[in-house]
Amino acid sequence: MPNIADNLNHIHHRIQHITKNVGRNPNDITILAVSKGQPAQAIRNAYELGHRHFGENYLQEALDKQQQLSDLTDICWHFIGPVQSNKTRKVAESFDWVHTVDRIKIAERLNTLRQSHQKPLNICLQVNINEEESKSGLLAREVENMAFSIMALPHLNLRGLMAIPQSSLSEAELHKSFAAITQLLSKLRNSSPQLATLDTLSMGMSADLEVAIAEGATMIRIGTAIFGPRQFPQKTPNS
Ligand SMILES: *Cc1c(COP(=O)(O)O)cnc(C)c1O
Repeated sequence: MPNIADNLNHIHHRIQHITKNVGRNPNDITILAVSKGQPAQAIRNAYELGHRHFGENYLQEALDKQQQLSDLTDICWHFIGPVQSNKTRKVAESFDWVHTVDRIKIAERLNTLRQSHQKPLNICLQVNINEEESKSGLLAREVENMAFSIMALPHLNLRGLMAIPQSSLSEAELHKSFAAITQLLSKLRNSSPQLATLDTLSMGMSADLEVAIAEGATMIRIGTAIFGPRQFPQKTPNS
């Protein structure tokens, strides 16, 4: 059984170290604990250590765990897997954030299905920053139009951008990819007063969080470095 307390401490140390080196405030970085493939008890353990933000990729798996953890009322659930249009209702109702919006049709469905007594659903647009054929996400040039469309949807709250760079980039290329996302967000913020409040760059995982933070990440998505190896078999991210 991995020691989640030690692992979380270690991540906090890595964040301290890199933010000091690049002159950022560690309080500006939110750790999203990616709990796909992990049992509900692992989430409960992290919660009891004070952790609140959890990310899940697969809807049914997430709903099962949410049910087992329904006593944790201030937990914050992030959906970070591909959103299938026939599953938008549950995603809209059961999560606080969705990081993987890249189609207007999905955004409109989430907007319609979000319950009016709930706070608006926080949204990040997923950007296919390396323009990979096989990967979901918007191309950089499509982001602005999509952002304006989403702004018009009252039950969604556009927060920023999310990206998963191509695997096996050199460190220099990785820096460039994350920097391009940061630049894209800054362009968006300057394009309209209504977009000036966008505050989220969801980028960086266990292996590359330092590079992501150096380039401006505000939310890092960390799975194995917190929970250890996944306990039930899963597809790889973004498949
Ligand atoms: C699984 C996953 C992560 C976490 O990956 P680790 O390598 O376990 O840190 C982050 N983001 C997304 C979108 C994922 O699917």
